[in-house]
Formats: sequence, C-alpha cells, structure tokens
Amino acid sequence: MLATGGTIAGAGRPRPAHGYRSGIFSIASLIAAAPGIESLARLDSANVASIGSQDMGESVWRALARRAEEALSEAEVAGVVVTHGTDTMEETAYFLNLVVRSPKPVVLVGAMRPATAMSADGPMNLYNAVATAAHPEAGGRGVLVVANDEIHFAREVAKTNTTQVGTFRSTHRGLAGLVSAGRIHFYGMPVRRHTLASEFHVPARRPLPRVDIVYAHAGMGRELIDAAVRGGARGIVIAGVGNGNLGAAALAAAGAAARAGVAVVRSSRTGGGIVERNVEMDDDRLGFIAADELNPQKARILLMLGLTRTADPVLLQGMFYAY
Ligand code: ASP
Repeated sequence: MLATGGTIAGAGRPRPAHGYRSGIFSIASLIAAAPGIESLARLDSANVASIGSQDMGESVWRALARRAEEALSEAEVAGVVVTHGTDTMEETAYFLNLVVRSPKPVVLVGAMRPATAMSADGPMNLYNAVATAAHPEAGGRGVLVVANDEIHFAREVAKTNTTQVGTFRSTHRGLAGLVSAGRIHFYGMPVRRHTLASEFHVPARRPLPRVDIVYAHAGMGRELIDAAVRGGARGIVIAGVGNGNLGAAALAAAGAAARAGVAVVRSSRTGGGIVERNVEMDDDRLGFIAADELNPQKARILLMLGLTRTADPVLLQGMFYAY
C-alpha cells in the first residue's frame, strides 16, 4: 500500500461540518480503521506523500510508478493499493495505467468524506480496494479505481460531483466491476492498450513535456492560447465547447499554434461523448488531434507521454485511438 494523502486521510471536525485538511492520517491508521482488512492480505505499507491531490504532479507520479513497479516485481506481491485524493485520482490512475509495466493490479482508492466525518466512506473503500488488489482475477485489467462499491478502469473513470460519495462515473464503456464488503464481481476487460502493452515509460530525469489545458467558452478570445504558446507549452488541450469546438478568434490562435509545431488536441468540456475528427473543424487542414473519448485532463496525460515519443500530429492521433 502506497499512501499519498487525500480526504481519505483527512481530519476535520467530527460533526457534519465543512472544514478539514487532506493527508493528515498515516497509512497505518487508515488500515487500523478498517477492521478485518488484515485478513484479506498481508499488508506492507509506505507513505509516499501527504498531500491533497490538488497538489499532485509529476514528482509524485514518478515515485508512485517506480515504487509500484518495484513492489510488483516481487513474487510474493499480488498487487498494489494507492491511497489518493479524489480530485485528480483519474489523472494519476491513467498515468500509471500508461507507464507501469506489470500484469499485476494497481488499485487507487480515496474517499469523499474525511476520516473523522460521520459515515466516513474511507474504511469500506480501503477494505474493498485491498480485496480487489488481492483477487486472483484482478490482473491484466490495467490500473483500477475503487470507490462506493464500484470498480472503475483508469481510462474510463471521472470525478463528476464535488461532494457526493458516488462521484466517480465511467460513462463511456462502463464499470470494471462491483465490490460489496470485499466480494468482487468483475465484468469485461478494458479495450485499449495499457501497462504491459503500453509503449510509454517515465523518462529518467527529463521533465515531461509541458501541456496546458485551455477551457473554451462563448465569446472566447485568443489570449489564453497565445499565452500557452509563449509560456513554452509543447502541447495544448482544448476543453472545447460541444464536439471540441472553438470560436473563430480562438480557432485562429489554435491553428497558428499547430503551424508553429505545438500539438493541439481537441477535447470537450461537456463531460461525455466522443470528439471526432473533421466534424465542424477541418482537423486535417489545421493539423489538430481529436481526443476521441478522453476528457481534457486525461488527454493532457496522454499528450505529455505521447510528446516524449513524437510531435507528429498523425502519430499522436493514432495514440488517441490506441490508448
Ligand atoms: N481535495 C481532496 C483531494 O483530492 C479531495 C478528496 O480527496 O476527496 O485530495
């Protein structure tokens, strides 16, 4: 078990109240709060970070990938559980899904209510995550996210609600399975490339290429896209309106960015649906990449890793269809 913080380790006022701080409790105290968890597996744990996942980034991703691979390479280790804040859990899950080279399961788990809250959801989520990681059929499914009695694929899952315990949804291709008090029901396998079949790895010392996300809106100008290019972005993900669209001023800036060699990916701010090529925009002429089913924050992860291999928009588009 690798702990990074988050609300699952958060402490606040015990009554229904709002204020709390993420990442206060150690992994040992989270384990102690889930009675029976030690009977599911022999647990070995380490604290990798103690942060709210709003502060998650490349250095912790690298540490998690390295430590997960190290642990999974040991014959007696069945799987890895990562405790993590829910805000950016989908990004860490998808990153690990693309870089961890192992057929064994990596399961991310968090909670919406701090450990001190009434009806805290962390202990049962943690119990279910360990049960999932220890299950003999959990391997080969890529990185998984467990919360609220559901098992999600890293590529599919998104946080969709600010506070509710049922915040995680996998709207496109559905759940990896269900888990109830440690009893697992797996459904299908993921359809896109991951872990062992992925071409990506974390570059040793070089930082990942910078990719910015720009959120589109009615009346949008070109300033933010120009600023991203000036600021050194090698890629820009557009959280476009509707089917990944941009108004004329922003579109001109995005076209200029692509001509200057910046990878421009069109995703959508809608929260669902596929962004296809050449629907209301001539992606072929403009040199854009369509995000397919990836939301903007996941498109950013894939583009950062993709840019470690190529800046060719045609090859990058292929990656958005493969992963
Ligand atoms: N801000 C918290 C975090 O992502 C929220 C949570 O964990 O639910 O760390």
